[in-house]
Amino acid sequence: MPAERSRSRSPAGPAMASFTLHGIPVSRGIAIGRAHLLAPAALDVKHYLVAEEHLEAEVQRLQQALVQVHKELQTLWLELPKDAPTELGAFIDVHALILSDPMISEAPLDIIRSRHYNAEWALLTQIDELSAQFDEIEDPYLRERKADIQQVAERVLKVLIGSEQTLPTVPGEDGYQAQMIVVAHDISPADMLQFRDRSFIGFVTDVGGQNSHTAIVARSLDIPAAVGMSQASTLVEQDDWIIIDGDAGVVIVNPSALVLEQYRERQSGLQRARKKLNKLKKTPAVTRDGTQITLLANIELPGDCAAAMEAGANGVGLFRSEFLFMGRNSKIPSEDEQFEQYKAAVVAMKGRPVTIRTLDIGADKPLDQTEHTALNPALGLRAIRYCLAEPQIFLTQLRAILRASAFGKLRILIPMLAHAFEIDQSLAMIAQAKAQLREANIKFDEDVDVGAMIEIPAAALALPMFVKRMDFLSIGTNDLIQYTLAIDRVDYEVAHLYNPLHPAVLQLIAMTIAAGHKAGIDVAVCGEMAGDIKLTRLLLGMGLRDFSMHPAQLLAVKQEILNSDMARIVPQTRKIMRAMEPNAIAEAVHQLQLM
Ligand code: PEP
Ligand code: MG
Repeated sequence: MPAERSRSRSPAGPAMASFTLHGIPVSRGIAIGRAHLLAPAALDVKHYLVAEEHLEAEVQRLQQALVQVHKELQTLWLELPKDAPTELGAFIDVHALILSDPMISEAPLDIIRSRHYNAEWALLTQIDELSAQFDEIEDPYLRERKADIQQVAERVLKVLIGSEQTLPTVPGEDGYQAQMIVVAHDISPADMLQFRDRSFIGFVTDVGGQNSHTAIVARSLDIPAAVGMSQASTLVEQDDWIIIDGDAGVVIVNPSALVLEQYRERQSGLQRARKKLNKLKKTPAVTRDGTQITLLANIELPGDCAAAMEAGANGVGLFRSEFLFMGRNSKIPSEDEQFEQYKAAVVAMKGRPVTIRTLDIGADKPLDQTEHTALNPALGLRAIRYCLAEPQIFLTQLRAILRASAFGKLRILIPMLAHAFEIDQSLAMIAQAKAQLREANIKFDEDVDVGAMIEIPAAALALPMFVKRMDFLSIGTNDLIQYTLAIDRVDYEVAHLYNPLHPAVLQLIAMTIAAGHKAGIDVAVCGEMAGDIKLTRLLLGMGLRDFSMHPAQLLAVKQEILNSDMARIVPQTRKIMRAMEPNAIAEAVHQLQLM
């Protein structure tokens, strides 16, 4: 959506229309370059009816295109660079699976035979039908998988049309042309991989959300990107100058020389800051006055441990194990398969502790798309409630986790606990899993620590029940805020009410930290608050010593810690904890950052 339009002189020379587009930020940083437009092949499709005697030839034309795309995907897979993010291989697999599915490999052939459509038209007809079915799906993550199907169809169309779209490789004489920003309706992760070796510094797409595969790859490649720009691919022209502000989700097309200069300065500032941060990798996280802090990583899959180690994490504070279970049509990974994954994480962390959270399935993380029966899934059968209702699934996971504990330091974390009997049953299940392993003569750590996530207000208000039974606590602020303020954390209509600085939220966090310390057990925060540098000092002032966050946030938080002085922070935090007015709290937190 163009928010402003004016005439200005672009760096390319002649006066060109300058305008700004607003979308969704998916990957941070600033990119400045020239637009390279990738028009979807679908726009060029011809529609015609095929004569009866040519129908089988048309069917074969489509079949050959499908085979060729299969080969292309195989080649992509084989040529995957060694250092490519693990997601990329998985995305290629997903596209290969979609391609072999009868909905793509057979249904369009039937359309050619029954309706006499040409191959391109038949394929698009089928894709349109599938897309409509995907639009009906409520779950935003699954709905976004529609993009994968469209990307596969586009590959087939490219082959049918015989017009592969390529990126220019020759740098221009102005020295900046080599820096290309891809602008497209949508980009498949596999295509992103092809762009990797070229001078590709950012991307902008019309569609997509923060969970789209393409967004995930962009984040893992650390390329500035913005999606959901609605009409970028029609408004932007080839070779237009573009600035992507990946933090704000803003794209400025044909910026004035002044704007460009300002962004170049910001960009160099960011680059300098990053370089500086990298120097902190090995520096211990200690405040100016000597308080030692533990910085842990949140991971989704064992492959993320590399980033955690690279960022200098002291361990893994949250392994969201449910990611091993999702997207498999409810096919639960076997004990051996889980064991291998947990072991891989433990081994990769080289002796640093790995905290594996048991299956937190449900709400916005369903096992599969058919799982939408709960009226209010965030309050329904999720996490430990699901595990206690499915004891075989839980026991299998516990055995797999315990087996991995023989290979390094491992801790078990139980999500969504609220009742004493849930804690007791969880511990009883862990004891049962241990007994089964002992009986089978399988090694595990007998003294493995077991902790509770404090993410339901009831838990934060009944801490003696937890500290008596558990070895450590970890505050899940994402859910704690959702349940305290009664707002669905995935509903954008109430997103403005999601406030970590609400006094009720702050009280619950402070109480949990204090209760843990009093009982002599570790307390971490593993929700998003731990990685927000605006809140680092507030959490330090509340007494937090263990922070767990996405590896990319770790060094910035460490820098904040290194510049902090507990002697100043603590009294100011006490003041904040006494305040009840939002403006006073916000102002005091701001002051805390300036100390
Ligand atoms: C939380 O709720 O804060 C948390 C860390 O867990 P998740 O975001 O996976 O629910
Ligand atoms: Mg949670």
